[in-house]
Amino acid sequence: MPEEFFAPISNQQTPPTYKFFDGKEWKDSTSGKTSDVISPIDASVVGKIQVVTTNEIDAVMEATYVTQRSWEATPLHQRVKIMHLAADWIRHFEEYLSSLLSREIGKTLEEAKSEIKRTADLTDYFADEVQSLRGETLDSDNFPGYDKGRIGIIERVAYGTVLAIAPFNYPVNLSASKIVSALLMGNSVVFKPPSQGAISGLHLARIFQKAGVPPGVIACVTGGGGEIGDYLVTHKRVDLITFTGSSDTGLAIAQKAGMIPLVFECGGNNPAVVMPDADMNLTAREIIKGAFSYAGQRCTAIKYVLGTKQTLEQLLGEVQKQMPEFVKMGDPRSPETKLVGPVISQDAATKIETAINDSIQAGATLVTGGKQNNSFIEPTILINVKPTMATVATEVFGPVVSFVAVSDMGQAVTIINESRFGLQASVFTKDEGAGIAFAKELNVGTVQINGSPQRGPDHFPFLGVKASGLGVQGVRYSLESMSRLRPIVLNKPQ
Ligand code: NAP
Repeated sequence: MPEEFFAPISNQQTPPTYKFFDGKEWKDSTSGKTSDVISPIDASVVGKIQVVTTNEIDAVMEATYVTQRSWEATPLHQRVKIMHLAADWIRHFEEYLSSLLSREIGKTLEEAKSEIKRTADLTDYFADEVQSLRGETLDSDNFPGYDKGRIGIIERVAYGTVLAIAPFNYPVNLSASKIVSALLMGNSVVFKPPSQGAISGLHLARIFQKAGVPPGVIACVTGGGGEIGDYLVTHKRVDLITFTGSSDTGLAIAQKAGMIPLVFECGGNNPAVVMPDADMNLTAREIIKGAFSYAGQRCTAIKYVLGTKQTLEQLLGEVQKQMPEFVKMGDPRSPETKLVGPVISQDAATKIETAINDSIQAGATLVTGGKQNNSFIEPTILINVKPTMATVATEVFGPVVSFVAVSDMGQAVTIINESRFGLQASVFTKDEGAGIAFAKELNVGTVQINGSPQRGPDHFPFLGVKASGLGVQGVRYSLESMSRLRPIVLNKPQ
């Protein structure tokens, strides 16, 4: 792919048509079909992406299958060097990628820059960490009945071809976290970016190619998940699927994929529990950022707040006081805009508005926001919400937070543990011991004490339970997830 791939977006008179990457060449699909990537900001066409055919998927799978072994045999220090180079290229194109990301998925420029920078740092960190990952040897005589007649040589090896499927909300960072960990462990990768975010994803694939990933080791296929998804996830050449996306899509993939390893990060519907002794100033700030960053389109966004009626009344006053400082809806490319740009599409905005109205009809009270305008949804706060209402029972992927009053903390535990989701939860209290004790009651992946849910720091383990995921991510954990153990037992008959 020539350098005009990174041509200034503003100079493009007509929306560019992007080719897909078969691992060796950038190609137009023989389907002759493309699909438009529409900017959520102003409904303009950012570009067109190819809709690949099943024959093209077969060819890509064959290419990645054939090259995987030689890639795994490439000395680790060379793979590490390529990943450091990729990190440098990501930094080199930071401005370009940030403005592309902002236009393609409607993230504020500040948030887009932070995603790009974090991706470069993550890539470097992966490349450093992989060097301390090693196998082991085991003696046999530890176990009763065995003498020293055997030695276990336990190696860590690649699975083969990894299918990486990423969501729209972090199309660079979450794609890279899958691709880099898989490649470093010696897998080849077939990357399917989200349709909205595919242009950013294709640029990322181009960066890995530029950094020196050999031909056939990484490919990037584009097309709607509804169109090409089933064919990809059931392909016989796929040895592991790493997927991030909604719980419903994850469940559908898991049911079709059969007996291959799955590493899934799925929906979150994260609660914040506010104890009566919480620092209301800090809690309000964390709840505002947690609920409204990237217009609430983060798996780790705070979706509902649990506390006694009195605590919630106090908190609401503080939240309303602080909102103007942190939140201003607008064009995400404008420096005036704070946290809330558009949601990913007009359809998504309509669904969010419907969920808000459903909760209101069921008895919730609207405090602020609630209105849709094209792809924009006003930052919304609802009170008097019950756990069965739409804005708590389902994951509403937008800038909406529901206040749910509980009689005591025991009821908060029940609501959280009964939820279909289990990604993260926050607990706010000045008593850290009480916070830790409460955290131990919750059936979620991670509990944050006095902070909003978040994925980082990226070397911490990150996981969801129940419908929120399978397996563990986080630098070392991702590297482990992208590799399996291969024991070889050396028998030495005495
Ligand atoms: P999504 O609609 O489930 O899509 C995710 C990815 O799956 C996209 O690449 C999509 O492709 C693809 N896909 C759709 N149908 C498929 C199928 N039948 N087979 C294979 N692939 C298919 O999710 P999203 O709207 O992009 O992302 C938002 C969701 O992701 C939220 O639920 C959020 O909580 C979750 N998320 C979770 C985490 C986490 O770490 N737990 C992180 C970020 C996001 P198309 O785009 O082409 O449809």
